[in-house]
Amino acid sequence: MSLQLTVHRGTQQIGGSCIEITHPHGDRIILDAGRPLDAPDGATGRLPASLDRSRPATVLISHPHQDHWGLVEELPPAWPIWTGSGSAKLIAITGDVTRRPFTRTFETWDSRSGPFAVGPFTVTPILTDHSAFDAYMLLVEGGGKRLLYTGDFRRHGRKSTLVDWMMARPPADIDVLLTEGTNLGSDKPVMSENELERDFVELMERTKGRVFIAWSGQNIDRTVTIYRAAKRTGRTLAIDLYTADVLDRISEGTGLPRAGFPNLKVIVTRGLRCNYRDQGREDFVKRMVPNGISAKRLEGSRNVVMLRRGLIRDYQSAGVVPTGDDALNFSMWRGYLSEPYHSEALEWCRAAGAEIAYIHTSGHASPADLRAFAASIRPKIVVPVHGVQWDGESHGFGMVRRLADGETMEIP
Ligand SMILES: [Zn+2]
Ligand SMILES: [Zn+2]
Repeated sequence: MSLQLTVHRGTQQIGGSCIEITHPHGDRIILDAGRPLDAPDGATGRLPASLDRSRPATVLISHPHQDHWGLVEELPPAWPIWTGSGSAKLIAITGDVTRRPFTRTFETWDSRSGPFAVGPFTVTPILTDHSAFDAYMLLVEGGGKRLLYTGDFRRHGRKSTLVDWMMARPPADIDVLLTEGTNLGSDKPVMSENELERDFVELMERTKGRVFIAWSGQNIDRTVTIYRAAKRTGRTLAIDLYTADVLDRISEGTGLPRAGFPNLKVIVTRGLRCNYRDQGREDFVKRMVPNGISAKRLEGSRNVVMLRRGLIRDYQSAGVVPTGDDALNFSMWRGYLSEPYHSEALEWCRAAGAEIAYIHTSGHASPADLRAFAASIRPKIVVPVHGVQWDGESHGFGMVRRLADGETMEIP
């Protein structure tokens, strides 16, 4: 008997990833326990039915996006859960701010950890480039076989050299490459974060008033890009308390911008202030105040201002009104605009006659980079996950073994 591989969920969809590797001795590793992207908020009971919860297993979470960790609270309490140390902090913050404090504790690795043992397996986390901070590929060895799971990755972000480096010195003798394929079937160009920075600089230079930007506070690459563009154009970036909290928790020992940096202010809004009070974290807000700015002072400024639906009401009650001199940039996946949560910010600015821009790049590798990566790894078999176009787009990946969700394959 050899290692067995089961993709419980992800062979036909993006998100909700859950993959099992079973050792001939019966030990099991679960790669990710993601929440399906279409699961309604608060919905429970979404773990794949094929995942046997009656036997022990160890869970490895590749990165802090909910479509990879969002179901861990439903896993058996006895199962150890591992993830990167930065990832654990970002997952905790999501629980705190949504007022659903996280009950599970994580065992953590970091980017310098090197290989560690999980029962008869050896696991090596490999830091990679993705729109999530602290994202890893995972090399799993056991039973004489070697599997590489890409998690989510790209090759055009601020950590692209990590992927280049890995392609130049690929791990040897990979039996199975489990690879994501989010962008397969799309020909939209991917831009690097440096190219985005140039476009943000141009937008900030040509805009007379404020530049509102909607982006995810956990997309640290994007925060850095926007901060750099603001600095280069002599503007001040005003982030919300949540984004300041994210930076505060992960930036220690890094060069990442945070409260106290020049050209950076934290907008202290009523809504988030109450949220932090309810979390029992008024001390955090107090700490931010010396580098804070009230929403009122955004009026008449030329700041670069973080915007999303949850902030609009606080801005409005402080008298902040967009004008035709302002601009809005939506810096997230376009598909989100079909959700009121995201479209409201856009409409608020559009109705005022502000310029609407779209400066964004994907958090995932282009089809060309996906194929180049697979070619450089030279696995015996490629098993596709995290994509919806694999059936028509699996050419150029070498020997592809297409599994169904819940189907078990023996690794030859
Ligand atoms: Zn994902
Ligand atoms: Zn992701």
